[in-house]
Amino acid sequence: MAKRILIVGGVAGGASTAARLRRLDETAEIIMFERGDYISFANCGLPYYIGGEIKNRDDLLLQTPEGFKKRFNIDIRIRNEVTAIDSGKKQINVKNLSSGDTYTESYDKLVLSPGAEPVRPPIPGIDSERIFTLRNVPDTDLINDFIDKHKPKRAVIVGAGYIGLEMAENLRRRDMLVAVVEMVDQVLPVMDQEMAGFIQPALHKHNVALWLNDAVANFRPSNSRIEVGLKSGMELSCDMVILAIGVKPEVKLAGQAKLEIGTTGGIKVNEELQTSDPDIYAIGDAIEVRDFALDNPTLIPLAGPANKQGRMAADNICGGNRQYNGTQGTSILKIFDLTVAMTGASEKALAKTNMDYEKLYIHPANHVSYYPGAEQMHIKLLFTKPEGKILGAQIVGSHGVDRRIDIFAVAIRAGLTVFDLQELELAYAPPYGSGKDAVNMAGFAASNILEGTMEVVHWNQLDEADYILDARSAGEFKRGNVPSSVNIPVDEIRNRLNELPQDTTINVYCTVGIRSYIACRILMQNGFIAKNISGGFITYRSYQNKEVLDHPTARQLRDEFCFV
Ligand SMILES: Cc1cc2nc3c(=O)[nH]c(=O)nc-3n(C[C@H](O)[C@H](O)[C@H](O)COP(=O)(O)OP(=O)(O)OC[C@H]3O[C@@H](n4cnc5c(N)ncnc54)[C@H](O)[C@@H]3O)c2cc1C
Repeated sequence: MAKRILIVGGVAGGASTAARLRRLDETAEIIMFERGDYISFANCGLPYYIGGEIKNRDDLLLQTPEGFKKRFNIDIRIRNEVTAIDSGKKQINVKNLSSGDTYTESYDKLVLSPGAEPVRPPIPGIDSERIFTLRNVPDTDLINDFIDKHKPKRAVIVGAGYIGLEMAENLRRRDMLVAVVEMVDQVLPVMDQEMAGFIQPALHKHNVALWLNDAVANFRPSNSRIEVGLKSGMELSCDMVILAIGVKPEVKLAGQAKLEIGTTGGIKVNEELQTSDPDIYAIGDAIEVRDFALDNPTLIPLAGPANKQGRMAADNICGGNRQYNGTQGTSILKIFDLTVAMTGASEKALAKTNMDYEKLYIHPANHVSYYPGAEQMHIKLLFTKPEGKILGAQIVGSHGVDRRIDIFAVAIRAGLTVFDLQELELAYAPPYGSGKDAVNMAGFAASNILEGTMEVVHWNQLDEADYILDARSAGEFKRGNVPSSVNIPVDEIRNRLNELPQDTTINVYCTVGIRSYIACRILMQNGFIAKNISGGFITYRSYQNKEVLDHPTARQLRDEFCFV
């Protein structure tokens, strides 16, 4: 007899499941329930439609219910909300939101892909019509209509995560002054702070004001404005607010059906993506996944995993035995002219484990410097000590960041080590890369560390350093240096060894870490104890978060929002 498969949620995970199910089983009866008006829409494109980069609203609607039904012969029920699951009877209760009618449907297999909802904490004034969240097409229409009607001049975005930063850029494209308020002391809290330090100047450059280390205490809407009171006592005045402080898994249905909920608050599933009831599968933002790098339960709300889990659940329902091996959080973000990407574990996450890890920073160009248009990338690589297994990577740059992060992502998935990175044969011609690609360079530098060719030390470990040597030219040193450092350009070191201390570690830096590496090799081979300060002066500057935030431009941008 034909299987009866019901799917809750008709967007990323749900629509993927439905399409794959039909491709595998032409006879199954498949019904997909979506409480909203749209299925299979481009959530990820919504900020760019608001900003005007995507011009046509219809382009966001990847499939219409009619088109999907015609292609896949699936019963699509939009404006139908699944309100309860009776797992004993293998039935669901459904409410037709247009007519108000309720009815039940029975299933052989049920797939839950209800997603995650924006967090809206009970802050005084949060119900104002001037405060928006962004999850779906109706939210997008509300924001767009508000902008068209009220022509707001100032917007405050609460939360500097992916959606908050994408909205900052896209509201700037709509000619608004934008301020971002973030509770922790950096933007993009999933990233390590010194890497996020490369993003903040770009936001200032594009006139986005930042309030870090501060949180909203209250909203006070008036007729034409909204005042945002911060915990620090600061008051911001604006015309609209975008609340982007994260999402939480939609687990109401699952909880009511007594399906197991994990410690992180997501629906617990096994490797086959079955919930605690084997006839009910769950996928997407609503589930708890295994962190691929750290092997602990976590929530990672991203489109790639949701789509792939949908396909996998369909395979398993159709008799397959595919296993989901975890999510590594590979993500990428455009922030004005920057591209920011990460994969695997961050150092913040690693610091909470007892894993023995090392890190390095390099700042290579995206392609050979003699070909016009070379742009610098900032790369942080995290790996186990002493094995060199790659744990995580973070990159801030522009062109070429996407390619490198994907190589690191594959390396992590394949269990490669930093030694393997040295050997990777990557496509090269001058407009695209270098004979020794940035990824190879990360492998060389990490292998040097693990093999003892070069010892590294990091800027956050130098509080007690006795001796810091700047190996750059005298001119570079003059333009800016690390307090208490001594300048001997790398090319003069061999002739000036007598000026250097024999009885203490010499910590060497240059701009990016290459000249200092050469300096270290000279010193080490002459009997000195030398360590290369990984990432050089560029990484030092990125650790100086406060310097950026205290810059007059940053202050001036913030002043635009203050009325007391
Ligand atoms: C603005 C924005 C930008 C994003 N950008 C990116 C990006 O660039 N890259 C990236 O990887 N990810 C991005 N994401 C995240 C990505 O969209 C999600 O990870 C993905 O959509 C999750 O898929 P899902 O199927 O779990 O949930 P969703 O796609 O949210 O679909 C769940 C659907 O289930 C419906 N539903 C819930 N409960 C019921 C019920 N009881 N009955 C009927 N229907 C129900 C909801 O109405 C919803 O439409 C973005 C998200 C947003 C909001």
